[in-house]
Formats: sequence, C-alpha cells, structure tokens
Amino acid sequence: AKENGRNGYQFYTEGMLDRELRRLELDKDLNKALAQDEFELHLQPQLDLTSGRVNSAEALIRWRHPDRGMIPPFEFIPLAEENGRITDIGRWVVDAACRQLAQWRNGPLSHLRIAINLSGRELDEDDLVDTIQRALSHHEVPASRLEVELTEEIFIQNIEHNRNQLMRLHELGVHLAIDDFGVGYSSLAYLRDFPVDLLKIDRSFITNVTERRDDATIARAVINLAHNLGVRVVAEGVETDAQLQFLRDNHCDLAQGYLISRPIQPLLLEQMLRDEGLL
Ligand code: C2E
Ligand code: CA
Ligand code: CA
Ligand code: CA
Repeated sequence: AKENGRNGYQFYTEGMLDRELRRLELDKDLNKALAQDEFELHLQPQLDLTSGRVNSAEALIRWRHPDRGMIPPFEFIPLAEENGRITDIGRWVVDAACRQLAQWRNGPLSHLRIAINLSGRELDEDDLVDTIQRALSHHEVPASRLEVELTEEIFIQNIEHNRNQLMRLHELGVHLAIDDFGVGYSSLAYLRDFPVDLLKIDRSFITNVTERRDDATIARAVINLAHNLGVRVVAEGVETDAQLQFLRDNHCDLAQGYLISRPIQPLLLEQMLRDEGLL
C-alpha cells in the first residue's frame, strides 16, 4: 500500500497507514485469539420454502476482540489465509459446529443442520476430512447434520485433489453447497463431476431480482439448472417480501437473509425459531 513519490521517497497517505497498521495489529492479535477463546459462531437460519420451516442454518464466524469489539470475517479471514492461521480457525469452526449440534441433540432443534464455510485454502489440507470425521464422532453427531459451503474457486485450481476431498466428505454423508454461485467464472461441467447437493445463488443476483429483468432471468435459470441436475437451491441475501415471493413463485427451495433473520447467537436462534413457530 505505498506509492513512489516524485523524489523517490515512498509515502503513505494517512488512510493507507491506518489500514496497514490495523492489519498488522490484527495479524498479531490473531495469534492469540484462539488461545483466548475470542471466536464465536453465529447462526443464520435458512427458511425451507416448501415446508415453511427451518431445517438448517449457516454458521458465520465472529471475532470478539478484547479492545476493538466485533471484527467481521472479511477483515480477518483473508489475513488468516495469508499467515496460515486459517487451518486452526477451520478446526475450531468444525469443532464448534459439532459441539452445537451435540447440544441440540435431545431438544426441539435436533433436526437442524449446520452449514460451515470452508475456504479453498482449508480444502487444500490433506487432513481436513479426518478432522471433520473426528469431530463428528467425538461429539456423536451424524455426518448428515453437517454441510460445507465452498465457492467455485475449488473448481479452478487443484481440481483432482479437491474432487477427491469432496468425494470423501460426500461418502461420509456431509452435504456440499456451492456458495456465491454465478460469480465465480467456473465451468458448469463441475456440477456434473462433483458431488454437489446445493447451490447458493449469490446475493448480487437477488438484491434487484424484482426490479431487474436480467437478474430475474439469471435466478430462474440457476433454479431450473439446479433442479434438472437434482440439486437444491438456496437464495442468499433475501431482504424483502417481494424477493421472497419471487423465490416462492419460481420454486426456489430455501431462502436466507435479513428478512428472515440476521446471523445471531445460537441461544437467540433457538428462541426465535420457537417464538415464530418455525420448528
Ligand atoms: P458468505 O459465506 O457469502 O456469507 C454471507 C454473508 O452475507 C455473511 O456476512 C452474512 O452475514 C451476510 N448476509 C446474510 N444475509 C444478508 C442479507 O440479507 N443482506 C446482506 N447485505 N448481507 C447478508 P459475514 O458474516 O460478514 O461473512 C462474510 C464472509 O466471510 C462469508 O461470506 C464467508 O465467505 C466468510 N466467512 C464467514 N465465516 C467463515 C468461517 O467460519 N470460515 C471461513 N473460511 N469463512 C467464513
Ligand atoms: Ca457461505
Ligand atoms: Ca455466500
Ligand atoms: Ca461470499
């Protein structure tokens, strides 16, 4: 984040320096965050449009920094990918999700599935599948309660390795969702060659789906394509009743977004689902 000045000196503008300092500080603090138990998993429910119930929720990580408050994932996940911490964070996420599922085992939320986000970098790790398998059996949770969300980047690099990893997860019974679908420049052939259970239509197509004909056309095409391949579809970023109606009219399977709920703490989710009769 620097430019060469006219006289050859390098200078930073104030904003760049602030950002750079914050990055360095966060990078340093990230090393302590796991040991100090500063991460939390928040859960955002997915509304099943056929049954009108909630059978699944996406886990989104939050970092409760002791001095800086809540830090959103876009600020530290990329850092963690660069410095390699992402592996430990990923293990923590897998364990926390399984722990949550185990806690729900005997209550009204025993049918709920949790979807965790994994970056391509995490899929690179050879022991990822073992890590997931161990966490599931340690917490005595059936693999079918767990889902992983991956973006189309996994179809572009390390394809053989990635396919192998995903086949192993699939054989365990873990569901596989393709996140941010439609913005990733990957070939559609991978929908045929990989064991995909769900497609998540990227929020950028949903935001204006009731105003822009192009977006509506794309959303409908994704839904039809997925259904013809036997794959279910989640719409992300649903914020209005009109969007929800569009998705219902076009037979989308699941809706997720602020209209239904923001990502919230598990206890609040339980309360909300009970209060609103969504179980
Ligand atoms: P994502 O997987 O695409 O997650 C969806 C993001 O959209 C979340 O942001 C969520 O809070 C937000 N969102 C949900 N509904 C709405 C809505 O109706 N409107 C709008 N404007 N936004 C909505 P969040 O939690 O800040 O996460 C950002 C990204 O960070 C995620 O994008 C995911 O790529 C990454 N991430 C989050 N948790 C993890 C994790 O545990 N591991 C890894 N590797 N990445 C994670
Ligand atoms: Ca996701
Ligand atoms: Ca997404
Ligand atoms: Ca995303």
